[in-house]
Amino acid sequence: MHPVTVPVIVVGAGPTGLTLAIDLAQRGVRVVLIDGDARRAKGLPSAGSKAICFAKRTLEVWDKLGGDLGQRMVDKGVPWNVGRVFLQGDEVYSFNLQAGATEPSAQSSERPAFINLQQYYAEEFLMDRAQELASGDSPLIDIRLGHTVKSITQDGSQAILAVTSTSADSVSSNYEISSRYVVACDGSRSTIRRSLGLESQGRTFQDRFLIADVRMTADFPTERWFWFDPPFHPNQSVLLHRQPDNVWRIDFQLGWDADPEEEKKPENIRPRVQALLDKAGMKTEFELVWASVYTFACSRMDKFVHDRVIFAGDAAHGVSPFGARGANSGVQDAENLAWKLALILSPSFPRRRESTLLASYGSEREYAADDNIKQSTRSTDFITPKSEISHVFRRAVLDLARQHPFARSLVNSGRLSTATHLPSSPLHTADEPGDVFADDAMRVGSVVHIESQGDTRVIKKDDVTYLIRPDGYIAARWNTPIAALVQAALDKACGGITC
Ligand SMILES: Cc1cc2nc3c(=O)[nH]c(=O)nc-3n(C[C@H](O)[C@H](O)[C@H](O)COP(=O)(O)OP(=O)(O)OC[C@H]3O[C@@H](n4cnc5c(N)ncnc54)[C@H](O)[C@@H]3O)c2cc1C
Repeated sequence: MHPVTVPVIVVGAGPTGLTLAIDLAQRGVRVVLIDGDARRAKGLPSAGSKAICFAKRTLEVWDKLGGDLGQRMVDKGVPWNVGRVFLQGDEVYSFNLQAGATEPSAQSSERPAFINLQQYYAEEFLMDRAQELASGDSPLIDIRLGHTVKSITQDGSQAILAVTSTSADSVSSNYEISSRYVVACDGSRSTIRRSLGLESQGRTFQDRFLIADVRMTADFPTERWFWFDPPFHPNQSVLLHRQPDNVWRIDFQLGWDADPEEEKKPENIRPRVQALLDKAGMKTEFELVWASVYTFACSRMDKFVHDRVIFAGDAAHGVSPFGARGANSGVQDAENLAWKLALILSPSFPRRRESTLLASYGSEREYAADDNIKQSTRSTDFITPKSEISHVFRRAVLDLARQHPFARSLVNSGRLSTATHLPSSPLHTADEPGDVFADDAMRVGSVVHIESQGDTRVIKKDDVTYLIRPDGYIAARWNTPIAALVQAALDKACGGITC
């Protein structure tokens, strides 16, 4: 029998694992955070460049994690709200993601719809915050970089990890560590998933994309630009985003027949970038910072909760990058799970209720993953039409969209990540019959920002009483609250205990 050494082990220090470990620590839960990346162990950023678009909701989650985290991200990042869609050389339409947003209240710090920030910066800032919580007299996070999980087993009361740690002078040693819960945030190729004989299943899109980060001084505005069939890259699509440090992310659709190794060569990338600059009339030198060729898949695990082992982020689900839903949804997984695990691990929480609360993480985030996959699949199908009839449809929609607003809603260059509305949840209480509410945005299952978020609480706004979960979701609402009904809804929101 292995001693249970810690309440929670988080495997993977990507955006999901870091967010979760910090959130748990802030709630007083001791966490071991394990990551095998040798570069990170040496204090270097993770290799390459992955996510760049971080959504308002993600910034709001990070705002709650202390260390001025949200502000650091915004200060370094490039905020943007406007997107433009082009067909060949002409603009078809533009959109503003903040249009119609409610005025920020005096208390709220309104975040932009998106910032663009290299994932390694986001990870660095999150790691700094985790290090703060790992120091002091009673550290809450035990950070183990350069430690790789090799396998996992579990029984009814604990999960046991076999780990190999590699020191700076490349000496390896093996050890086992056990905990009441393990959260697998170990990415799309999750070792833990494989070790448990589980799978993430879905659909791979038969197309390839060259994704290049280019350093240059260019006059493009700080907006998202998407071209269908541009003259500088005919019959394909191109996406342009500004990042910090004068770096620009350019995604070139290549088609399924493209040779990834050839396309990755600088001598083949440079003419593609030059053609874009020539067409835009920009005379500027540029430097290739990083490039890779990708094929994307949408997939998810059947269930995210497997007894003592819980899956989150890319380990649990995957989407194509159009819509920026990968890291953003991983952060929402972390937010959903942290308060539930903290409640479960509190001394007074009855063991028999654990599975109810954990199951709600599973059902809520599996629903969110399905929604993300649906949106991402639709975007990818529009961007990479696979049949002649799909091409004809897309062309007709894009032509109509120049003049007719109705057609713009059919153009899909990536529906961008927002907080998922939860139409149902085992933690939510339906409206009382006869209650009438004017504000549809504040439905049960919406995320709201009425005031700073803390534990589950009851608040009143505009004559409506709301029960707000720690993650900002409305769990119930009433025109005329009755104490017994409020208490019952509160208990339900906490997995059936009085909280
Ligand atoms: C080109 C590209 C562009 C993208 N753009 C966006 C975007 O704009 N917005 C967005 O939201 N998403 C985007 N994504 C997706 C985003 O990068 C991922 O969804 C995100 O990295 C998932 O975070 P994660 O923490 O779940 O997993 P990861 O970031 O993959 O982190 C997993 C961590 O686990 C560690 N690990 C793995 N195995 C082990 C092991 N056995 N033992 C110990 N540690 C282990 C790894 O070292 C790693 O640090 C993009 C992806 C790509 C490829």
